[in-house]
Amino acid sequence: MVAVTNRVVAVTAVRPTNDTAELWRNLRERPGGPRPTPPALGSVMETEVCVLAGLSDAPPRTLHNAPLVKSSPLSPTIRAMLEAREFGRRFDTVPLDTESVRDRLPGLRSGSGDVQFLAADHSLEDLSLSVEGLLQHRKRLLAPTLNPNLSRRHVLVIGAGPAGFMAAIELSLRNHHVVVCEQREVYSRNRYIGVYKEVTHLMAALGMPERMTYDFSQYRGKRGIMLADIQTLLHGIALKLGVLIYTGAVAKSLELEALRAGQVELQRAPQPGSSTPGSIGLTRWQHDSVSRVSSGVVIRFDTVIEASGGRSGLREVLVGKENVVPLHDIGLAAVREDPTLDSFFDDPEDHSAEYVDSDYGCPPGLRPKFAQALKAGQTRQIPAAIPCFVSNIDAGVFTKHMHQADGSLGLASRVGDRQLSIPHDWVVLECRLADQSLSRYHIEGPLPQTFEFGGKRVPTPAMLDKLNPVAFLVRILYAMGVPFDAVDRRQLIDFYNAESSYGDASDIVSTWIGRFRGLRLPGADRPIWYGHVPGSDRIEYAIIGEALQNAWYRFGVGVDDAFTGAAYLAECLDLQLDERLERASRLERVMQSRAVQILYHLYAVARNEDQGVVGAVLTEYQMEERHAEDLAEARLREIARDGAEMQAAAHDLRAGGSDSLLEAALGYLRDAQAGRAMQLLESFPYSTEVLAKSRRSATAEDQEWRSRTFVLLEPVLAPHHQALLAPLFDEKSQSSPGTDRRLWQERLLDLASGRYRWVTPWLRACALNALDSADAKAGVALATAAEDRNAFIAEVAERKLQASGRGATARFSMFDKVLTLKQVPIFRAIPHQMLVDVASLLTERRALPNERIIEKGEIGDALFVIAAGRVRVHDGERTLREMSHGEAFGELSLLDAEPRSASVSAVHPSLLLRLAQSDFYALMKEQPAITRAVNRVLCQLIRTA
Ligand SMILES: Cc1cc2nc3c(=O)[nH]c(=O)nc-3n(C[C@H](O)[C@H](O)[C@H](O)COP(=O)(O)OP(=O)(O)OC[C@H]3O[C@@H](n4cnc5c(N)ncnc54)[C@H](O)[C@@H]3O)c2cc1C
Repeated sequence: MVAVTNRVVAVTAVRPTNDTAELWRNLRERPGGPRPTPPALGSVMETEVCVLAGLSDAPPRTLHNAPLVKSSPLSPTIRAMLEAREFGRRFDTVPLDTESVRDRLPGLRSGSGDVQFLAADHSLEDLSLSVEGLLQHRKRLLAPTLNPNLSRRHVLVIGAGPAGFMAAIELSLRNHHVVVCEQREVYSRNRYIGVYKEVTHLMAALGMPERMTYDFSQYRGKRGIMLADIQTLLHGIALKLGVLIYTGAVAKSLELEALRAGQVELQRAPQPGSSTPGSIGLTRWQHDSVSRVSSGVVIRFDTVIEASGGRSGLREVLVGKENVVPLHDIGLAAVREDPTLDSFFDDPEDHSAEYVDSDYGCPPGLRPKFAQALKAGQTRQIPAAIPCFVSNIDAGVFTKHMHQADGSLGLASRVGDRQLSIPHDWVVLECRLADQSLSRYHIEGPLPQTFEFGGKRVPTPAMLDKLNPVAFLVRILYAMGVPFDAVDRRQLIDFYNAESSYGDASDIVSTWIGRFRGLRLPGADRPIWYGHVPGSDRIEYAIIGEALQNAWYRFGVGVDDAFTGAAYLAECLDLQLDERLERASRLERVMQSRAVQILYHLYAVARNEDQGVVGAVLTEYQMEERHAEDLAEARLREIARDGAEMQAAAHDLRAGGSDSLLEAALGYLRDAQAGRAMQLLESFPYSTEVLAKSRRSATAEDQEWRSRTFVLLEPVLAPHHQALLAPLFDEKSQSSPGTDRRLWQERLLDLASGRYRWVTPWLRACALNALDSADAKAGVALATAAEDRNAFIAEVAERKLQASGRGATARFSMFDKVLTLKQVPIFRAIPHQMLVDVASLLTERRALPNERIIEKGEIGDALFVIAAGRVRVHDGERTLREMSHGEAFGELSLLDAEPRSASVSAVHPSLLLRLAQSDFYALMKEQPAITRAVNRVLCQLIRTA
């Protein structure tokens, strides 16, 4: 029995139900919800089928800009589709077309002709049957096949991929109780996959509109779907069937002992960047977000289904290490059984048979050679693993359009007017959604097994570990001939940041180092993928999906096989034991065929000598003369050049004595440039340990951090990088302060005129402020700057020109505001340049003597800084203190609206700068660095208190 004993932290009590009448009641009783009229007798509702009529006003779905749902794997679109619109207004108007449903439900039945979507491309108006209706209908169809003598099972499914979900759906349609445990909190949105039409067909039947699929017809399948959308849709359907889904959760122990006991404890899956145990997510039907359940939920089961994908470790536990074998072993057994291998390629029942005659199947003429290589165990000809690269990129990342070659398998041929050089075993495809709302490039291809690096051959995985995914991708694009100016690197990084939901590189770029393994299938005296947990006659297991056999997706082996395994499993479990075993063995024959197909594909890839494009580029990367071509290298050079200029400026400026504003502004820029350089260093194959250590040593609060970090970095940096970065990082490498006043004046003028490209408005303002206006050259520079298009610069120059005679009534410039703000304790950790943004929010308020500025007891919503004049803080007539220029009151009101504890009135005519809480909050939202700086000060204050 599945008993969920848990400590629930916050779960909304909504009982999962499949009873449409009850759902109907819930809907009517929902406060504020729509109150449709009840369905008429004999209507579709009567036959327990609802109609999706309201979908036509669904917002257009553009996958690349759909918000990422961080809290729930269930995307809002699907949620809306499953929860609200389904119970739309026209329950009783569309007749049920039972025939159109019959063949479209799980498992995979190949319909004749093309896939017909229930939803039309654009309007979605004819999406006539609801998922609920289909499921109820399916249940009725299945009912007669259920064995009444077998008790309903309590099933634990490990892994919410296509295999796990389809098994959960199939089993709960058969009235088994199912719990799914998934380690991820959010499904990765990296994988667009080309699928056989049966998969699209099934998704369409389950309510996925065509617009969520894209045209992949030039390559393998009819259409493509994002894997996360398949998971999300199935997630929603499983929820509707009452399946309990725990996300962000893993079983504490999946050892034999726990499995035999039929009991596991779930705990929070380790999250990137966090080592603390915490809550896990529970989603149930009608919960529109993930409820949090504390770790420690105990799940009891009598059947465990291993569906955790190609990296599964559970399969070894269930069948023994010795039975998890390279696909070669399975292929070898197949050759022994059928030396021509014909029977493994020509199964008319197999839905992939249509591809046998295409490029993806093994041509009959080649079979003897392939069989020979397999028999001889020639691993050079049929490697056990192929490192591979796969990624999807938003088309917006490219500044130029990629043109597709005519008649190719969707291969891109040129970018803008530049010809690409993509080997034929690489694929670059543009994926478009039916409504054109999404356009992405899908790029994939095999990589060489090793690279020459630093004169040595390095295995590819070791090389890949050292490169960050984006840098790696840029190299691949470069190797394909994409010019660098055709890639907007900033957009690329933003795109990947937005897409990566798990902080896991595999979310972003999959460098798939296949170890093609599967379960030893033929010749076993019992089915291996299904049986009793070793040592138990009570608990049963099944292994499905990629956990059963690594799929070689380039061959089109993938989601369809995951579904097939799930369908087999569901049928098996309702059979008597002997029939069950017989049926289970039939799946093994399918798996054996697949293993042979996969091996053939490896054979085909290995025979292609021109194996991928990245080898050359990673090798050249070592060669100095090509460095300039490399984007990361080029950027590092730019930064280093700026750093050297900054160092020279700092040196010369010291000749004029210290100007703390100028020094701070320049120091800030050097810190920021050094930070960028450190990020770029991650693109090079330097020790990740040293880079991490130097990252830890970098805290901008510490003046010495650059020199200290350089001491750590220097020993591992290549000599040219040492030389490049020394001026930026290493204070020690600077010569003593300059003494030449003439150089000082020139440098100041350079900065004041903004001559260097790294000079920010704030630094320029500081330089203008430091100029001696009596000097002729400085006068010209100030007059020019007073005309500057940047209002801030113009104002600073003007202020300097009219420097004398400023009183309380004189105009208070932005520059003065920044300097005044910097004196307020709460802002002291915010760098000047950021304070310019805060200063722009200030409004001026003038107060005459005895004028009340704030009243005790009123709710404070602003901070005041005294720019000029004098005020007194008082409680009634009693003066508590007096304040003047640079002091502030109401600091806490800026962060938290509370009644004022005292009144404040002007003593002399005063100029006050007011900062409203709402404006400051909006700014903090936009610029988290400001929030961090304020928090730092608050923490220090608390510590001191
Ligand atoms: C880069 C790439 C491209 C592909 N392209 C295609 C294609 O074009 N067409 C195609 O049909 N197929 C393709 N495939 C293959 C297809 O994605 C897989 O065959 C399919 O996803 C397998 O489904 P599954 O449910 O067995 O495993 P998965 O999809 O891998 O799902 C397993 C799930 O289990 C979870 N999990 C793992 N360990 C645990 C644990 N200990 N506890 C809880 N949860 C766990 C994982 O987070 C994951 O969600 C591709 C695969 C890759 C890697």
